[in-house]
Amino acid sequence: MLLKSLRVQLLQTGKRWKSFKARRNEWSFTFRSDKENITSVFHRNSQPSQTGAEDQFVWLPTASGVYSAKSGYQALKRAEDQGSQATTSLGSDFGWIRDVWAADYSPKLKVFIWSILQNALPIGTNLKNRGLPAATNCIRCGEEETVAHIFFNCPFAQNVWQEIPLTTAVHLAAQVDFKETLVASRSMICLPPTGITRNILQWVCWAIWNARNHLLFENRVFSSSETAIKGIQSSREWITAQDNAKAKQAQLPHLQAGNRQQHRVLLASYSLCKTDASWDKSSKNAGLAWIFPATESTPERRGSQRVESVSSPLMGEALAVKLALRSAVSHDLSTIRICSDNQTLIRVLNGKLFDKEIYGISQDISSISSALFVDVSFSYLPRAENSEADALAKACLRSPVVVMGR
Ligand SMILES: [Zn+2]
Repeated sequence: MLLKSLRVQLLQTGKRWKSFKARRNEWSFTFRSDKENITSVFHRNSQPSQTGAEDQFVWLPTASGVYSAKSGYQALKRAEDQGSQATTSLGSDFGWIRDVWAADYSPKLKVFIWSILQNALPIGTNLKNRGLPAATNCIRCGEEETVAHIFFNCPFAQNVWQEIPLTTAVHLAAQVDFKETLVASRSMICLPPTGITRNILQWVCWAIWNARNHLLFENRVFSSSETAIKGIQSSREWITAQDNAKAKQAQLPHLQAGNRQQHRVLLASYSLCKTDASWDKSSKNAGLAWIFPATESTPERRGSQRVESVSSPLMGEALAVKLALRSAVSHDLSTIRICSDNQTLIRVLNGKLFDKEIYGISQDISSISSALFVDVSFSYLPRAENSEADALAKACLRSPVVVMGR
């Protein structure tokens, strides 16, 4: 009864997963926040083993017990519908479902906001609390680096917020707890002509966080104006993408009946990604490539990377899919159809074949897919239709420098 993505997020944020065990016919939780978090999403209608059986992670909403992001979203939606009346009567209290899981922003941002709320972001104070010897001060002004400081109180953050044209003034710095900030920000909408009709807080925090990381790790400086614009732009791109997806479905109302037809409509709104790898037997190097073809609303995006120590073409193809998914996360794509011209790989990724050589990579692909996407499908594409990705992979393998793309 545990959301797989929570575990993945914990690993990503460097926190060790603490399992929770059944004792005396009760579920116990390592942290209070775990309990709050998990029970807010799941119905606690299972009974612990009477014979001391080893705990297993199972996901109740599916018959198989295996979590998928799609079933997760459906469960959240149901819980949100049930919880919305309760939330209204309680006033404006924070709700994990309303303010995080079912809120209207991208999966990547949900992971980010969740990390803030769990004190799992690798910022100065959190690292210090975990006993890690790290610089604990703000890279910009030298103050202690807390969540409130980095996102609201730092002079840089305040400059960013001044650039955001909000319809209502929200005194963010006054909110000590980030949960309170999220609640206070619910009505935070930008003035026209930004085109932002939804809460922008998460997007601005995300932009501030990225600007901080660019400065810290790459010595790249983004001004407060650039950071503010980035926050507004990302939010607008997300809203446009959502509206386009809704419009597409609305245009095809006659297809809404029947699961198979509905599935077809869904697939039509999937982002396509073509992947390929080029492998050199003697050096064991591989050029990996992925291309997101242009759509009505987005330009073509492509990326490639050369990697070493690749033992076979199959492994190269699998690595290309993994990097393509990472790239898709950075583009905030939530539903994606990954294509490869390697039939064996597609069979492995669709669970129809086991291959021990790429077991680790296929597990990574599965984890990334279920944690960060609403749905990912893997399809075979004949080589003749994959010539662009093929050419890109070959060029990357030949290239003397490692090429990184997004
Ligand atoms: Zn500062």
